[in-house]
Amino acid sequence: MEITQAEFVSSYADVRKCPAPDKPEFAFIGRSNVGKSSLLNMLTQRKQLAKTSVKPGKTQTINHFIINNAWYLVDLPGYGYASVSKDKRAGFGKIIEQYVLKRENLYCLFILIDSRLEPQKIDLEFIQWSGSKGVPIALVFTKADKLKKNELQKNLSRYESTLLQTWEELPPIVVTSATEKTGRSELLTFIGNALAE
Ligand code: GDP
Repeated sequence: MEITQAEFVSSYADVRKCPAPDKPEFAFIGRSNVGKSSLLNMLTQRKQLAKTSVKPGKTQTINHFIINNAWYLVDLPGYGYASVSKDKRAGFGKIIEQYVLKRENLYCLFILIDSRLEPQKIDLEFIQWSGSKGVPIALVFTKADKLKKNELQKNLSRYESTLLQTWEELPPIVVTSATEKTGRSELLTFIGNALAE
């Protein structure tokens, strides 16, 4: 699959106001600074499709883009600075939780992980939570160019073994670098296959 058209639709602070769920949707999420805007711009080959994330505390929005007139690409707010909720469960933010739980046309939620870091609690919690809700997820490791091959492999293995403590099988994993355009064709093939199913 190639992206021939990518257009901003709108930003929504309320899941109920999102476009009608009449097209397949692929959403991207991760901690602030994980490299999400860079990845989305690399994927769509638009310099400024996704703007760099808003600062914590600003209104968080769900940003829809229409791709090839056929599917929605969704830029979700960053998680990781939401406060712990009353029941002591880590909160990911109301808008994120509502979106993940309610968006019926969500084909895949791409969870972005900074490949330079050892497994982070908030990322693991988010993976577990969305998985436990039956949401189809894939893990996208970012900034792979910043590591030597063996360091990258070590970090990936650490993630995989941590996840395999609770998951029977691993979700799909794509390794990317926005600066080197690594992983672009894998991501587009993955999306193309999901659309064709
Ligand atoms: P966001 O907050 O998740 O949208 O992250 P950004 O896309 O704004 O990226 C955060 C920082 O990481 C910026 O300084 C980017 O230049 C840098 N960055 C993002 N992706 C990559 C990458 O693939 N390789 C390298 N070396 N730096 C990256």
